[in-house]
Amino acid sequence: MTNLTTTLSLTREIAREVVAIHAERCDRDAAWPQEGIGAMQAAGLAGLVVPRSDGGLGHGLAALAQVCEILGHECASTAICFGMHCVGSAMIAAHVTQSQRERFLTPIVEGRHITTLSLSEPGTGSHFYLPQTRIEARCDGYVLNGKKTFVTNGGYADSYVVSAATAKAQPGSEFSCVILSKDNAGLRWGPAWSGLGLRGNSSRTLELADAHCSREDVLGREGDQIWYIFNVVCPYFLIALSATYTGVANAALAEARRHLIERHHAHNGLTLAQVPVMQHRLGGLWARLERTRSLVRCAAEQFDAGDPDALLAVMAAKVEAADCVMRVVDESQTMCGGISYRDGTRLHRMSRDARAAPLMSPTTDVLRIWIGRALLGQPLLAD
Ligand SMILES: Cc1cc2nc3c(=O)[nH]c(=O)nc-3n(C[C@H](O)[C@H](O)[C@H](O)COP(=O)(O)OP(=O)(O)OC[C@H]3O[C@@H](n4cnc5c(N)ncnc54)[C@H](O)[C@@H]3O)c2cc1C
Repeated sequence: MTNLTTTLSLTREIAREVVAIHAERCDRDAAWPQEGIGAMQAAGLAGLVVPRSDGGLGHGLAALAQVCEILGHECASTAICFGMHCVGSAMIAAHVTQSQRERFLTPIVEGRHITTLSLSEPGTGSHFYLPQTRIEARCDGYVLNGKKTFVTNGGYADSYVVSAATAKAQPGSEFSCVILSKDNAGLRWGPAWSGLGLRGNSSRTLELADAHCSREDVLGREGDQIWYIFNVVCPYFLIALSATYTGVANAALAEARRHLIERHHAHNGLTLAQVPVMQHRLGGLWARLERTRSLVRCAAEQFDAGDPDALLAVMAAKVEAADCVMRVVDESQTMCGGISYRDGTRLHRMSRDARAAPLMSPTTDVLRIWIGRALLGQPLLAD
């Protein structure tokens, strides 16, 4: 049994010994972080959020937050790829059948299987809960047709948790999620991912062309969509993302601090650490980061404790983490000056990685609207 202390110590070791070493190449070559993910699997951490009753480590959001923050400090792509694997694992585990346990959870726990989440579509964009992909019953199971975008781990995962509208529902009004194996003949991948940042993510487009699955591949019951969105996707994804970006912000601030201490000016022999405005900037950013980290961890703990208001805190955490990372990285670049503006610097990578934070669904704007609606007693998914 790997307890939290051991889990975090193993993650720190992997982050230092493996993830940090491959981070620059992942970014430069847009290479999926095989080494980091493989090391997490080899260390027995791939079943992080899989319940103990299914053979996993049985950790909740508080552990997921700490693991993603540690990985994100070295490489945002690795952290998001591992985080999406955890979100997919949690989706499968939520209402798992014996057959799904044997085919998916056991290989995940044994470090032989990576999964991921494929909800977003070109037609409905940030409204990821409104799939236009159709799922139709056939005598021997189901057939899916449609198009997915931004599938993190695309082409590298062993299975894909995919959403689709059921044939009997109004288009986009109801869906079920199914698990598709990477070997499914109906999966057609678009070109390799080439993004501004998160370049190791392999967030590819996926066309589902008569992708066949059996009844045993359906998660939960048809029409369980709202339950999955608010009980699994939102909490797990939002915490994984918030924590990843807390890690990025922490790394950016460490870069700035190091620079302020080491940078001497020839004309007066002073370091930037002795300049009051820099001291003021660093102090303010440190407080901002601490505040954000506390919110992310507190929201995760609230969810683990079953607090009915936890989801509001989780949504607020992602909004804050996205704002925090963009501000901290931006001001760290200011403190590091023109040197950080060159190609190939860590801050250059972090500034590009950070820019995805508010754009990834639920986006910052959508989350603010959802929080406002919840506080005003309005239906969250009104559009
Ligand atoms: C690097 C990366 C990795 C990703 N990984 C995954 C993944 O693994 N799985 C997955 O399913 N998806 C993933 N996504 C997709 C992501 O979560 C979004 O669904 C997607 O980026 C939406 O993009 P869009 O341009 O179509 O958004 P649009 O829907 O066109 O939105 C554009 C802007 O308009 C705003 N907007 C739209 N509608 C409203 C409204 N009603 N009110 C207020 N504002 C609104 C949005 O907030 C956004 O700022 C990923 C995206 C990125 C960039």
